[in-house]
Amino acid sequence: MTFGAPAQAPDPLEVTAVAKMLIGGELVDAKSGKTMDVRNPANGEVVGDVPRGAAADVDAAVSAAAAAFPAWAALSGTKRAKLMHEAARKMHEVVDEVAKLLAQEQGKPLAHAKIEAARVAENLEYFAGLADKLRGDYIPLDDPAKFGITIRRPVGVVAAITPWNFPLTLMANKLCPALAAGCTVVLKPASTTPLATQRAIEAIASAGFPAGVINTVHGPGGEIGDTLVGHPKVAKIAFTGQTETGKRIMQLAAKNVTRVTLELGGSDPMIVADDADVRRATAAAAIGRFFNAGQACLAVKRIYLFEGIAQEFMTKLAERAQKEWKLGDQFATDTKMGPLHSEQQRSEVEAQVGDAVKRGARVLAGGKRPEGAEFAKGWFYPATVLADVPEDSRMATEEVFGPAVPVFIVKDLDEAITKANATVYGLGSSIFTRDMAKARRAAEQLDAGYTWVNDIQVAYDQLPFGGVKQSGYGKEHGIEALEGYLEKKSVVLASG
Ligand code: NAD
Repeated sequence: MTFGAPAQAPDPLEVTAVAKMLIGGELVDAKSGKTMDVRNPANGEVVGDVPRGAAADVDAAVSAAAAAFPAWAALSGTKRAKLMHEAARKMHEVVDEVAKLLAQEQGKPLAHAKIEAARVAENLEYFAGLADKLRGDYIPLDDPAKFGITIRRPVGVVAAITPWNFPLTLMANKLCPALAAGCTVVLKPASTTPLATQRAIEAIASAGFPAGVINTVHGPGGEIGDTLVGHPKVAKIAFTGQTETGKRIMQLAAKNVTRVTLELGGSDPMIVADDADVRRATAAAAIGRFFNAGQACLAVKRIYLFEGIAQEFMTKLAERAQKEWKLGDQFATDTKMGPLHSEQQRSEVEAQVGDAVKRGARVLAGGKRPEGAEFAKGWFYPATVLADVPEDSRMATEEVFGPAVPVFIVKDLDEAITKANATVYGLGSSIFTRDMAKARRAAEQLDAGYTWVNDIQVAYDQLPFGGVKQSGYGKEHGIEALEGYLEKKSVVLASG
């Protein structure tokens, strides 16, 4: 195999990466020979290119994964675990290189890209630890001459489809449980962030996985997504992306009754009671909203404040937005927030803010594009806080996938929970209070897959994560993630 040698880390400002696809253990171009450019969102410059795959490439990748599946599924959990631990080691070796690619193509600050790249290795370790611990059950039956057992079998070929906001962590969330369970994988990264993922996969594969266990295809989802999702040899689709795309995938999956897990959009509420530690709550709100330039599924997207602390909270959050979230090039060491990922992404956030302002919202921080030569060519937008936002405005009703947040004032917890739940989404949620009774009610009554109490919205490897309502279904993280990649089969044994 031609991949896997840890290359010399390139200079971030000079690198132009030419990536391939990994299919059946070989690094290949698209059969058509076509490629697509990948650009830096901070200045529009081309930073690399990848093959522009088509249906024939998807078919080759799925066929390679299907051919590799029986032997990989039959390998002992101990051997799968060993390979995954080695893959984690290989991934650690390339963290700096992968992080540079990620910062370049995605726009996030280099320091944050490094954290994300290192998370891949951590995720590999976590699921490697589970690969040799899969087991079934013994079930007594009414008839004493018989008994039942359950065995757990890997589902087969997994199509893993990921978005551009956290390309590496969201790839690892699918790849790692799939490998641990004994599934083979065809990964399709977002077409605007394929470089870091491809390099990470090459490092992982170089641990010695058999050819065809891990494959990649590149290309716009609109062009190759349907072929991948509708492929008869794909047994499971693990998707993260927009709710609208998720709906389309569900429809396509129905053709072959392919199982799906969907990690979709969110509009997470944060409730701050009048007994909360306001300083801590504003710190969590700022990180929860402005990290990754607000392009996160789990993020503080609507804030509900009790009257007693509302003014203090708004003042402090606006101060943090203006002073702490320095915009800039992703490779400048003092940058806290890079550009938005695309022109369309910035236009969307601007339109959502503009709609609220036109309808009477007050801008407490941000609210318009930054000026200056360093921002002229990129998709920059500042940390933005809005008050008096109409509850039927776009800011309140849609997912805001950028660094802008509306704050609302509520009279009590009943009103806060009712308003927090008044959305089609149900991904994360949080409450800040010193009152255990309030915290418990929020945990029990907020419609979401996660509730943080007095804490920053960070997902943990150990805890299952997934949405309710139109935020999707199925779990990533935790032991529960394995369930999506395993089928529990019942066996009855009678005396012969
Ligand atoms: P997107 O839906 O546009 O794209 C996601 C992936 O799907 C990409 O790889 C894309 O190429 C592919 N795709 C597009 N059309 C397809 C089709 N017809 N068939 C198959 N694949 C197709 O999402 P995005 O804009 O890249 O990501 C942002 C969205 O993702 C936000 O809504 C965000 O909330 C959500 N998200 C959710 C989670 C979560 O865990 N719940 C995590 C991160 C992001």
